[in-house]
Amino acid sequence: MEFQKHTVLLLCLIVAFLSFAVPLFGQEANLRFVVEEKLAKAEVYRDGKKTTGIRLEEVCDVDNDVVAARVFRDYGAIFIAAPEVRFPVKCVFAGDSEVQMYQSTANPVTKNVGGTSITLQEPAMNALLEAVDEARKKNLRISPRGGSIAAARSYQDTVDLWYSRFNPGLGHWTGLGKIPRRDADAVRGWGIQKQVAKVLEWEAKGWYFSTDFSKSILYSVAAPGASQHLFMVALDVEQFASKPVREILARHGWFQTVKSDLPHFTYLGLDESQLPARGLKPVFVGGQKFWIPNLD
Ligand SMILES: [Zn+2]
Repeated sequence: MEFQKHTVLLLCLIVAFLSFAVPLFGQEANLRFVVEEKLAKAEVYRDGKKTTGIRLEEVCDVDNDVVAARVFRDYGAIFIAAPEVRFPVKCVFAGDSEVQMYQSTANPVTKNVGGTSITLQEPAMNALLEAVDEARKKNLRISPRGGSIAAARSYQDTVDLWYSRFNPGLGHWTGLGKIPRRDADAVRGWGIQKQVAKVLEWEAKGWYFSTDFSKSILYSVAAPGASQHLFMVALDVEQFASKPVREILARHGWFQTVKSDLPHFTYLGLDESQLPARGLKPVFVGGQKFWIPNLD
């Protein structure tokens, strides 16, 4: 009898939670399915003919390319941004000309924000300026962190940032005798995409390449050609530690979407309640909420 009472109570609690949670969070979805569905409806020109449908592997080959898979898992949130954001045509740009081609057609706008000149896609910039305004009325500030590269970056910026972690990491792990010097020298001479794959292989053994060698290099800098900053919908924010600032940014469609990259915000142009149905899930790190790809 006692057991039954507890069971009934538990069921009531579950029902109460679900009836509260479901309307609040909506349906959960897997990011891959959401993106595949979106791509299937996209109109493209092939050999001069207009057709419908792009396969995910054409944009981000998550099944065959270890770097693409990792990039999709870590930075994939941009693929579900609101329709006014220019859709990412690739998850990893191969070089400078591809980046320039994308950026020139993505309606970039440059403004002075908090004393720093930054460039973003127009809807992202408009939403940011509204957030800055709302913050100002509450005696808060929202400003770019680390100069102009806080927002849009060039391909070369992502290459420079990569080497600012890659070289010290290589020095650290050869110094400790983990990576043989001849291996390190060989990898230094490789193309950058191959280097990324090799670093991920080393990190799988626990030899991390972030600034303090405690976590993955990708929590510290993006793989070259893969940064959300290249898509001009990312901003590193000086006041990221302030909860009211994070809440204001979220109200204007700016969310933290790269787990453990604390100052990094992404413009999705969506209401927070829409995110689970678009394939993102919330995780908390250090009291901050990140909306990351749901690929389970
Ligand atoms: Zn960033």
